[in-house]
Amino acid sequence: METKVLKLLELLLSETNEIKQKLNKLEARLDNQQHIDRIFGDIHRYFANNDAKTGNSPGNDSKPKQEVPANAGNLEMAKCNRVTDTEPEIDNIDLKTSEISIDDLKSVLKYTLVEEIGPSHAPTFKMAVKVNEKIYYGKGGSKQKARDDVTQIVYNSISKNKVKPTIKDEKNEPRNVIIDLSKLKKNKLEYLKPLLKFTLIEQIGPSHAPTFKMAAKVNGKLYFGNGGSKQKAQTSVTQSVLQSLNQKLINDNLINVQIEPMTVKTDPKYVENTYSLLKYRLVEQTGPDHKPTFKMAAKVNEKIYYGVGGSKVKAQMNVLELVLGELLKNQKQKQHGEVKSLSETKNVNLLPTKVQNTSKSLKYVTSALQYNFLGTTGAMFKMAAKVNGKIYTGLGISKTKARLDVATQVHTSLLTQTNECQQPETETKAAAFINRLYPNAIYTCTETRTDTRTEFTIIITVNNQQFVGIGPSKKIAKKAAAFSALTGLGDPPKTQINTVVKPEFFRRLVEEKIASLMSQTPQFGRYKVGAGIVMTRNGNFLDCDVVAVATGTKCIRSAKITNSGANLNDMHAEILTRRCLIDFFYDQLELSLEGRKETIFERNGPKFRLKDGIEFHLFVDTTPCGDASVFSPRNVPRRQGFLRVKVEAVGGAVSTKNERIFREEKLLTMSCSDKICRWNVLGLQGALLSNFLDPIYLKSVILGNVIHESHLQRAIYGRVKDTLVNLPSPYKLNTPSTFFLPSTRQSPASVPNFAITWSKNNQQCEIINYRTGMTQLGPSKVSKQRFLQKFGALSEKIWGKNLEIMYIEAKFSAFEYNNAKNSINEAFRSADLGNWITRPIEREMFRLKN
Ligand SMILES: [Zn+2]
Repeated sequence: METKVLKLLELLLSETNEIKQKLNKLEARLDNQQHIDRIFGDIHRYFANNDAKTGNSPGNDSKPKQEVPANAGNLEMAKCNRVTDTEPEIDNIDLKTSEISIDDLKSVLKYTLVEEIGPSHAPTFKMAVKVNEKIYYGKGGSKQKARDDVTQIVYNSISKNKVKPTIKDEKNEPRNVIIDLSKLKKNKLEYLKPLLKFTLIEQIGPSHAPTFKMAAKVNGKLYFGNGGSKQKAQTSVTQSVLQSLNQKLINDNLINVQIEPMTVKTDPKYVENTYSLLKYRLVEQTGPDHKPTFKMAAKVNEKIYYGVGGSKVKAQMNVLELVLGELLKNQKQKQHGEVKSLSETKNVNLLPTKVQNTSKSLKYVTSALQYNFLGTTGAMFKMAAKVNGKIYTGLGISKTKARLDVATQVHTSLLTQTNECQQPETETKAAAFINRLYPNAIYTCTETRTDTRTEFTIIITVNNQQFVGIGPSKKIAKKAAAFSALTGLGDPPKTQINTVVKPEFFRRLVEEKIASLMSQTPQFGRYKVGAGIVMTRNGNFLDCDVVAVATGTKCIRSAKITNSGANLNDMHAEILTRRCLIDFFYDQLELSLEGRKETIFERNGPKFRLKDGIEFHLFVDTTPCGDASVFSPRNVPRRQGFLRVKVEAVGGAVSTKNERIFREEKLLTMSCSDKICRWNVLGLQGALLSNFLDPIYLKSVILGNVIHESHLQRAIYGRVKDTLVNLPSPYKLNTPSTFFLPSTRQSPASVPNFAITWSKNNQQCEIINYRTGMTQLGPSKVSKQRFLQKFGALSEKIWGKNLEIMYIEAKFSAFEYNNAKNSINEAFRSADLGNWITRPIEREMFRLKN
C-alpha cells in the first residue's frame, strides 16, 4: 500500500524538487496505516474532481503530468492538512458582515497552525482559518507572517464580494421596478417593500443556519441584501433601496438656500426669518406611529444638514441649530482673518474748519477716514478711525453702519471742537442690544445724593461679569452701563444660540401641538389665545416635551357656577394650561407610587420632589390679562401694579380698587397676571398637591407678543418684591426669565365659545364649552371635582387612609402653602395694590362622590 502511494506521488511530482523534499519528509513520518489510507483516498478524490472539471477521463494517462504544476499548491494543501499526528481542528467563525477592516478581522479570526516545514534555520509556517465554513490558508517565514498572509487572503475574498455583488445567471436577474419615492404616501419600509420584485440569488451556509441573498432592481439599479430568512433578506434589500432613493430624492429636491455668514445674527427675529427661509424636507420617518422619529434635511450654501426629532418641528429646529452654528463659526473665522488691533489704525488729519453741520460735510468725513475693522461684539461690528491723532470707535449692525457711526462721531467732534468723545447713537443701540443678546442680564441701580445733584449708578451683571454706568438719570446710567457691557463682553456666549433659539423653539412646539389637536377635531379648529408648558431636562432644550397646552375661551357666566366643583370657571388659556400641568403631576405621582423610574418625581421623606434638572417653561401667545396688559406709551405709573378681577360684563379685568364696578358687576376671578404672580410665590402645583409636593416654579415665561419686559416682570413678580415677607420655607419669590417673540399668528377677531385642553398623560384632548365649563360628557379632567378624586386616590396610597374630606379641607391641610398664600395676599395689600378676591366658601365645600 505504502509503495503504491509513493509511486503515484513520485510520478505526479517528479518535476518539482521542492515538493520532492517535502515528500521525503512526509515519507519519514508516514508510519500510520490509517493516515496512508486517508491520503490515498484524498489523492483519488483530487484526481476525480480535476478530471471532471477538465473533461478528462480518469483513465487518460497523458494529461495529469501537465496539470500537476498548476494544482500543486492545492495538492500540497490536502497533504499538509493531514501531516500532524492529530488532525488540527480549525474553528469556524461566522462573519456576518463584509464591512470589516483588516485589523478588526485579525481580532476575530481563529488561527490554526497546520504545518511547519523547511530546515529549522529557515522554516515556513502554514496557518489556516475557517470563515463561514470555508477554509483559507496562508504561509510565511514566521507564524505572524503566516497569520498576516491568511488574513489578507480572507480580507480580499470578502471585500471582493462586497464591492461587486453580481448575478451570475442572467435569467435570475430580478424584474426592474420604477419607483418615484416622492409619489409614495410615506417613504417607509412597509410601504415600499410590497412594491419590489425580489429574486433569491443564493442560499449559503448550513441548512440549520442558512443565509439568503436576495436582490431587487429599482430604476435600473440592482440592490442586494442578506438575511437569515428570505423575509429578512427582503427587508435588508428594501432598506438599501430606501436609503439610496431617499438620498437621491434629497439631493434632487433639496432647494439650496444661500446665506452669507457675515449677515448672520442671533436675535429672535433673524432666527425666526431663517427658520422660515430654509427649505426642509422629510428624509425619513421611523419608529411606531404613536411615537415617530422624523429626520429632516435642508441645504444651505450647497451643504446638506440633517436634524432628528420627535416631531417635524423639533427636527427642523435641530437642522436650524446646526445651520446657524456652522454659519456663526464661519462668521467668526472670516472676521478673525480681517480683524486688526486698535494700534494699527491709520491717522488722517482733518481740519475742523472744513467741517460744517450738513449732510454733505458728513459724507466728506465719511469718505476721508481710514477705517480699521476691530471685529465684532455680540452681533455688532466694531470700527475705528484715527483723526488728528485721536482714535474714534463705533458700533453698527453692519460694517457700513459702524463706519457711519465712527464718521458721525468724528464729524460731531470736529464740529464742536471738543475733545470729548460723544456717542449718543451708539449708546442707545447698546442698551437695546444688551437686552436682545443677554435677556438674563441683571440690572441693579443705586442712587447717590449730594447737596447739589443726584447721581445714579447702574450695574449690569451678565455672565458673572459686572459693568458699571454712572449718570445724572437712570436712563443715561443704564445706557452707559450697557455700552460698557457691550464693548467689554467680546464674543457672545457659547450658549447664545441656545438662549435665543430656545423661546422660539418652545413656541413652535406648543403651536405644533395645538395644531395637531385641532386637526383631530376640525370642527373646533380655531383659537384666539393659546398657551402651553414645555418641560426640559438638564437645560438641554432639545431634550424637552410639551406637557400641557390649552386654548382659551371666555369665563363662565356667574349664574352658571355651581357648588359641586364640576365646572371650570376661569377658561383663559394660561389658566387652563396650568390646570393641565397639575393633571400631568397627578399622573406622574401615581406612576411614581407604582415604582416607575421614568417619572419626574422622586421620594423625599414623606413627600415627593421634582428630580434634578427638570424645568418648566410657560408660553402664552399674548400678553396675560390684568397688570401685564396695563401699559401705555406714557407709562402712567399710578395705574400699574394693581390686582385686577375678570368681570362678566367687561372684556378685560378691572382693578379691585374700582368701587363702582365692584358694586355693579358680577365678579368672576382674578386676572391672569395676578394668578401668574401667585404661581411665582406658591408654585404651580396648587393647594391640593402641596400636601405631597414642595413648590414647583416656572423657569421662564415666553410671550408671543413684544411688550417692554418691565411690564411683564412687574406684573408677574416685581410688584410684590418689596413687600413680600414671612414666607415659610421652601416657598420663595421666583423670578422666571422672560422672553418676547414677535407675533406670528393671525388670530380670529372673536373668542371662540370653546376651549381645548390637553396634557401629556392624556391621549385625547378635551373640548370645553364656555357656557357650562364642562365637556359634553361632563366635568373636565382638570375640574376641581376630578382633582379632588385624584387627590383622594393619591392620599389613600400615600397616607393609607380613605379620606372623604371636603375640597376646602384638602386645600387647607397643606399648612405651609396656606401660610405662603397669606403672605402674598398681605404683600399685595401692604403695597397698596388691592385685595385678592376669594370665592364664596360654599363653592369649595363639595365632597368626593363615591
Ligand atoms: Zn387672562
